[in-house]
Amino acid sequence: MASAPAASGNPVAALAGSLPPGLVTADPERLAPHLLDWRGTKRGVADLLALPRSTAEVVALVRTARAHGAALVPQGGNTGLVGGSVPEPASGRPTILVSMRRMARIRAVDPAGLSLVAEAGAILADVHEAARAAGAMFPLSLGAKGSATIGGLVSTNAGGTQVLRHGTMRNLVLGLEAVLPDGTVLDQLKPLRKDTAGYDVKQLLIGGEGTLGIVTAAALRLVPAPAVSAVAWAGVPDMTAALALLARLRRAVGERVESFELMGDEGLALVLAHVPSARAPLATPAPFHCLVELTDVDPEAPLAARLEAVLAAALEAGEVRDATVAATLAQAQALWALREELPVAEKADGPSLKNDVAVAVADVPAFDAAARKAVAQHFPGARPLVFGHLGDGNLHWNLRPPAGADAGSWLAQHGEAARRLLHDVVVRFGGTISAEHGIGTARAAELARLGDPGRLAAMRAIKAALDPAGIMNPGKLPL
Ligand SMILES: Cc1cc2nc3c(=O)[nH]c(=O)nc-3n(C[C@H](O)[C@H](O)[C@H](O)COP(=O)(O)OP(=O)(O)OC[C@H]3O[C@@H](n4cnc5c(N)ncnc54)[C@H](O)[C@@H]3O)c2cc1C
Repeated sequence: MASAPAASGNPVAALAGSLPPGLVTADPERLAPHLLDWRGTKRGVADLLALPRSTAEVVALVRTARAHGAALVPQGGNTGLVGGSVPEPASGRPTILVSMRRMARIRAVDPAGLSLVAEAGAILADVHEAARAAGAMFPLSLGAKGSATIGGLVSTNAGGTQVLRHGTMRNLVLGLEAVLPDGTVLDQLKPLRKDTAGYDVKQLLIGGEGTLGIVTAAALRLVPAPAVSAVAWAGVPDMTAALALLARLRRAVGERVESFELMGDEGLALVLAHVPSARAPLATPAPFHCLVELTDVDPEAPLAARLEAVLAAALEAGEVRDATVAATLAQAQALWALREELPVAEKADGPSLKNDVAVAVADVPAFDAAARKAVAQHFPGARPLVFGHLGDGNLHWNLRPPAGADAGSWLAQHGEAARRLLHDVVVRFGGTISAEHGIGTARAAELARLGDPGRLAAMRAIKAALDPAGIMNPGKLPL
């Protein structure tokens, strides 16, 4: 690796000179890709790029940074959607971007104990593959699986498309290894199923967005690999009907409902417009679409037949307008691609206001109606683009500027007011302004405005206790 700046008397050079050789570089070309977020809307500034290869190197990095008062910004795949993985443009102190991508080993897989230990930089798709090779499954998936890392997924408490059945990262992390802001190693990596020996400190790092330490490895919960699955696409008249279909499915097949995703017709239209391989799944139009997956470990389980029967009954009851069950793996993958390519199609369509909210599942239709009403009243012409994990009550309730408007200037003028309006509706329904993406910088002001004061005070006290010098990911979360 190219070495750090040589000028003496320069605080960055002094910092770099105190670190083990080869751990950091100041090469602007190598730094540049790490300084722009996935959406391409936030550009940060850092003095050095660190690429540690081991937990010991992370310890050296943290201790040295602390001694020099430098800021550390952990980064995994840089697919986060709230600006958390990119340094602030002006932190006022030497800043090191810590890319964890070289710590990507799968340290252990235990098929009998159903656990897997991966380093923080391991890519989610590689973890899926390692679990599959052992006859198991790591039950968390999302559109960015080819780039998102275990450290990033842990630190954002990521969700994805299987939360309905398996929970978020908080439920899937059995053990954690991390370097705390004073350089101490938190060694809770053993995949224990039970542990009541005091505070569960690792949970502070899960969803901590890099503000309480650097995750170096995680022990993950696996489940037996499903032997069969059935995937269907259903056009539905409204969200109430979508929830009725979910309830009907659960009554029929219980825990076998692995995923239940929702998108509005405008989202499907965007995918069809921007993704060349995408094909309309149904002949009959519908305002909303549901993507359903059932799985079973029993290879004899007649899942497709059960799914067809449930959809036929839902059709009869008027909950479904049209539906198709994938007949082959390729068809199932094509249906999933329609859902997973939506954020990519949205990005290709131009700037929009992104939101990640959740309310109680039963409240989703009323919340959605209230949000649409408020937006139509205050921002006439603005176009909701709503999709997400309906079974978790989690909607990406995004807003596109009015057709024909200059998107950049509309968002600059109205974006934050529209976001506040939406969040006020969320709070009225007792929901959350961040369901799975985290807070980063994009939601920090809103969390400060709307967060529970007791929770915010506890968060600030924990931050002050563990990171009194504020070296870990400054500027993220309202700390
Ligand atoms: C197309 C697309 C689809 C997505 N779909 C979903 C979805 O369905 N559900 C969902 O939950 N998210 C989704 N996301 C968001 C994103 O993929 C997740 O937030 C993911 O967890 C980020 O992982 P990453 O490795 O890219 O982390 P980064 O973006 O690099 O970092 C995210 C945060 O974690 C911190 N961090 C990263 N690594 C570490 C570490 N080792 N130690 C401490 N802190 C660390 C960073 O400082 C930052 O605050 C999607 C993103 C894209 C682009």
